[in-house]
Amino acid sequence: MAVPDEEDASLRGRKRGERGKRSEDVLPDRVPRACVVQRHVVLHGLRLEGLEVPAWLVLQNGRRPAGTCGRVRREVVEVEPTEDAEVVVSYQADIGAFRDERAAAIRARPVAHQIAKAPDGVGRVVGDRIQDSIQRMQISVNVRDDGDAHRSRATLAKRGAFLLAAAVWIVSGALLWRTEVPSLQLAELNPQSFFASEQLARIADYRRVTRALFLGSLVVQGAVLAVFAWKAAGLAEAVSSFFRGRIPTGVVLGAFVALALWLALLPLSGVSHWWRRRYGLSRQGYDGWLRDEAVSLAVQVVLVTLAVAAFMALATWLGRSWWLAGGPALALAGTVYLLAYPLVVQPLFNRSEPLPDRELAAKIEVLAREEGVTVKSVEVTDASRQTTAANAYVAGIGPTRRVVLFDTLLDGRFTQPEILSVSAHELAHVGRRHLWKGLGWFALIVIPCVAILARVTERGGGLAEPAAVPLALAVAFALFVVTLPLSNVVSRRYEAEADWIALRTTDDPASFVQLERKLVLSGLADPAPPGWFSFAFATHPSAMKRIAMAEAFRYRSRAGS
Ligand SMILES: [Zn+2]
Repeated sequence: MAVPDEEDASLRGRKRGERGKRSEDVLPDRVPRACVVQRHVVLHGLRLEGLEVPAWLVLQNGRRPAGTCGRVRREVVEVEPTEDAEVVVSYQADIGAFRDERAAAIRARPVAHQIAKAPDGVGRVVGDRIQDSIQRMQISVNVRDDGDAHRSRATLAKRGAFLLAAAVWIVSGALLWRTEVPSLQLAELNPQSFFASEQLARIADYRRVTRALFLGSLVVQGAVLAVFAWKAAGLAEAVSSFFRGRIPTGVVLGAFVALALWLALLPLSGVSHWWRRRYGLSRQGYDGWLRDEAVSLAVQVVLVTLAVAAFMALATWLGRSWWLAGGPALALAGTVYLLAYPLVVQPLFNRSEPLPDRELAAKIEVLAREEGVTVKSVEVTDASRQTTAANAYVAGIGPTRRVVLFDTLLDGRFTQPEILSVSAHELAHVGRRHLWKGLGWFALIVIPCVAILARVTERGGGLAEPAAVPLALAVAFALFVVTLPLSNVVSRRYEAEADWIALRTTDDPASFVQLERKLVLSGLADPAPPGWFSFAFATHPSAMKRIAMAEAFRYRSRAGS
């Protein structure tokens, strides 16, 4: 608290007058013991900036309680409330000798909830050192421990920014969540009505193992990452003896983690490949499988090292608040990845070519026009290298966007109306900008996650330290798993919208239902997986839900016509 110069000078004068007098104990209200000080101190018009409360500090003679030495005085602070009576300082104060580090405290209470600049304005009055009797006099007004209203401006600003960010998150999420699907009462369909018992039994046998392998792979990844995070300090030291500089050390450590994860998952992936071959879902040899695994390792190492290098550089330059740039940077990287995927990543695994069947291509172009979509190309990819299951997908954004059909979809098992249903679904993803919206969700999810990542790694010196890299990767994995239900519920919602638009465009629910049936059989997909599994891990509505939507569409169009 700033005291005007005249006040200061007069205070000093009065103190000088006190020289030579011996110390007294002063007993403030509600403070059992305090040493000091001086008599007849009167601070007039003590101005508490911000609070705008004038206060008078008066020392009065008082009775001497047991255990005190010398004469005893009691101090009282008199306070006049501000005109609007919002701020009142209570009758609590305390004058303390500086030598025991006790600051006199005047607590203000009650205080209006929103005081823009309370605490900063409240400071200390420090009197000069006076020989013999008074070491130093200090009065500080302490309003900090008086409840939530007393926050520093910085805390208030942070809270405000947090609330604003939360509001932006909710509004963006609500806007992205909207789809064209009307509210439908989907029937609970029984898989037995659409599939033979042997087919369902075979699917159940196959899926029991793939589900266990999938959950096992999550556990293995978590365990490997936990071990690395635990042993990070020693590893970082070992690596740093070969590589100079913190960022190269961190990048190498990140690459090691990626390699270790790949090695740990390789047996599970091998079992999975064996299992797929056993059920006729893959005709790929083990050499081809291993080659694909090696390529995906290379892709992962590149992505991990790029991310580690970028985040460590940001943490080095920007310190604790690196996440403010790191979150948006990751969202931007996601955009670049989607843009580059069909040109850079996909060709590493499969070859694609424009759909050779011109008649089919023309029909797909008609569908595209009906959905108001312009797609550069409809392609066929040689997915049969890896799988016998049929599928299709959209890839790329903006100039690189394309609809890609698996060649397994065109091998004669599917009729043309069924292929057109798939195509209409994929075109709807393009037309409703699902990849862009997905990027929007990616940003909404990763920005808070990067903030959490920064917070967690802060303790060990932050992500500028290479030893924090394994922990950061472990936390990133944990956040990925924890946010899966959110990203998957969004995915299922967009898939449902694409189904609905496909049904509307083709107006052929019978072919749609047949398509769903055949997709289930070609990929041995569980038509109605356990609820918990779908909630956490399913990117698409179950086949039974999709068929139920086709039934709902049929019912509505009949009612409408
Ligand atoms: Zn889809």
